[in-house]
Parts: sequence; structure tokens; C-alpha cells
Amino acid sequence: MKLHFDDLVPRDSLRADPALWGDWTWQTRSALRTRGDFERHFELAPHEREGFTGLGDVFQVRCTPYYAALASRVEPLDPIRRILMPSGLELLAGAQAMPDPLGERANSPVPRIIHRYPDRALFLVTDTCSVYCRYCTRKHFTGNDHALARGSDYDRALSYLKGRAGLREVILSGGDPLTLGDGPLARVLSDLRSIEHIEIIRVGTRMPVVCPMRVTPELVALLKKHNPVYVMTHFNHPRELTGEAARALTALADAGLPLFNQMVLLNGVNNHPAIVQALSRRLLYLRVKPYYMHQCDPSEGTDHLRTSIEDSLGIQRELWGNLSGLAMPNLSVDIPEGGGKAGLAPDFEVARAGRARTYVGWDGVRADYVSPGEETIRKPIDVESYLGEWRALTGAKP
Ligand SMILES: *Cc1c(COP(=O)(O)O)cnc(C)c1O
Ligand code: SF4
Repeated sequence: MKLHFDDLVPRDSLRADPALWGDWTWQTRSALRTRGDFERHFELAPHEREGFTGLGDVFQVRCTPYYAALASRVEPLDPIRRILMPSGLELLAGAQAMPDPLGERANSPVPRIIHRYPDRALFLVTDTCSVYCRYCTRKHFTGNDHALARGSDYDRALSYLKGRAGLREVILSGGDPLTLGDGPLARVLSDLRSIEHIEIIRVGTRMPVVCPMRVTPELVALLKKHNPVYVMTHFNHPRELTGEAARALTALADAGLPLFNQMVLLNGVNNHPAIVQALSRRLLYLRVKPYYMHQCDPSEGTDHLRTSIEDSLGIQRELWGNLSGLAMPNLSVDIPEGGGKAGLAPDFEVARAGRARTYVGWDGVRADYVSPGEETIRKPIDVESYLGEWRALTGAKP
């Protein structure tokens, strides 16, 4: 079956000029920022109004007209609206309320670099996003409008990456790296490509979701030029896959850029197996591999948007077996304080006896798997001679 993706119809209340609607710089310039901007388009509920007065400058508010057009104008419980609209609930203390839930400050050897795993590191090239998601992990970092195309922090970050020969992968993050214009982005990409040991560049971005017009032919060509570049999108709800978004993803996929999606499980937005399934299937159809389904981090003011671990596991369990493995995202929780990600897989094991383990499969089949005896599995692989041969063939250094 051929899936359809409908274009959005902008409303006058967004002051949308049809000639400019498809121009990404118009979308970011015309972002809704103040309560007045939001009131022109949305009928605000009392807790939403309170969000504007109470939050002050702590948590930034911003939304492209395009993304605003995707939300209900009248219904505060609308899933897209819950992502973009500030709420008085963000002021509540919450169960954990951590300003830096991932302990990123501790894992930051120089400003703008977060290096927690041996072979890959995050490079926060800008703190700007064109929509500030209410559940954001880096609420205290994002939104101070410090883009970083050049300057001493940039040079320090770059020389840190240069000095770590074990790094193979740099993940551009933020903020949203694609809020940078093509010029600054080109400089970042070519600077990274000038570092010998960096093999893979990942670009983590929500622009295909909140401002798909950012994906211009020029941007696609720029990313392609620096291949291998992996584009990590951040769709949370099937409704975000509009005609505009589908065209952006198709342009990226046609250029040979591998596409992966990371979603966050959010209360009242997508915490139902049918929603995750619809999102994943539509993404897969557009050649985007669903990669992670993140447990929402306990950053401040996010309790109303978080799910419980039990809720998340239940959703994943229900999808297991029913959803193509290609479309199945990995459920993962970031261990607070810099513990890294922990994968949460459903447990199918029901008993163990000797070398046998008993499993009950997704649809109820019960059976044993018996491992071979110690004497057979203890045949060591001669790693050294294998690596020696490979080095002789390829000339690779140890
Ligand atoms: C999530 C994350 C990564 C990437 O992890 P993958 O499992 O490879 O996607 C890298 N660095 C940091 C600090 C992270 O939080
Ligand atoms: S796009 Fe990412 S970094 Fe920006 S506000 Fe949303 S979650 Fe935070």
C-alpha cells in the first residue's frame, strides 16, 4: 500500500505569507516567542497562561509557525501542543528535577564537548533550536542564543577532538546544528573532516520535524559532500510526518544519507503502542530507521510529560513481534549523573536449569535453549594471528 503524507494548511492567525511559508529563514525569523504571539493563534488554557508568566527566562519558549500549525488551536491535551506549549506544570518540583540530568557537566572536558564513551563524543555547536521542546534534557543550556561557528570555545573544542586519536565519531548536537546557516555548517563539517581519525559524523536535528523547509537542495548537497554523515531525526508522533516532512526525508535519503530517528516516550503524547507503531511504520516507509525510544530524562519541570519505566516497558513488550524488527526502536534510559545509556529489552526468560534456559516467546511459545558444554565453547579464537594477517593485508597500524 502506498502511504500518504498531507501538507499542512497554514492559518491567517500565524501571519503566514504563502510566498514565504516554504522559506526556512522566514519560519525561524517568524517564530512565536511571546504570550501575545501564542494568543493570536491559540486559545490558551489557564495552566498555559501561567506557563508564560511563571517561567520567566529560565526555560525558553519558541515555535515555528509551521510547527504551531500542526497543533490544535483549542485543545490543550493535543499531543503536539503538549510538546511546544509552556505550562505552569513546569514549575512544579517533580520527583527528581535535575538541572543536569545526564551529568553532562562532569563529562565535559572542554566547553561544548561531552565525551562519555571512548569512541564517540558530542559537539554542541549551537544552543539554538527553532522550537523549544518542553521536555528538553538540556533546558539550562539551550536557548541562550549562543551559536558557535567560530571563536575560542570552538577552537578549543576542535583541538580537543583533534587530540583524541581514539575518537571515530562526532555527534553534532545542541541545540540544533541545522539552525546554523549553510556557511557556518560547512565550516564545521570541513573542520571535522580535516581530522584524520574521525570516520563518522552524526547530525542530531529536529529541523525535519519543526521546520522541514530547512532541508534545501543546498543543504542536502553540503551533507552529502562530507559523507559518511548520519542524520538523526527526532519525530515523536505520526502527525509530525506531514507532506513537507516526507519530502525533506526523501531528499535526504535519495542523497544516500543514512537516516535514523530517536523518539522520546512522552506522557499524553505518544505513550501508547498504537502511536509508536504508526510512527515507526511511517518512518520506515520514508527510509528512516527507528533507532532509539528514549525514556524521558528527569530534567526540571518534566514530570507531567514523563512516563514510568513500567509504562515504557509495557509499550515495548506489546510491539515486540508485532512490529517489523526494522521498525522497532530500542528502548533506553539514560542513567542519571553520567552513567550512559542502559538498554531496556523485554525479558523472555522464565526459568534456568543447568545449561538450559526456558523462554516464552512473544506469542506464548515456551521452549528451552541448551548451551553447548564448556569444553566446546572454550576454544579460544586466535585474535593476534587474525589481526596480524589483516594488518599485513591492509597495512593498518595496530
Ligand atoms: C547517547 C549518547 C551518545 C551516542 O550513543 P549511541 O548509543 O552510540 O547512539 C554519545 N555520547 C553521549 C554523551 C550520549 O549521551
Ligand atoms: S530540539 Fe532537542 S535540544 Fe532543542 S529543545 Fe527540543 S529536545 Fe531540546
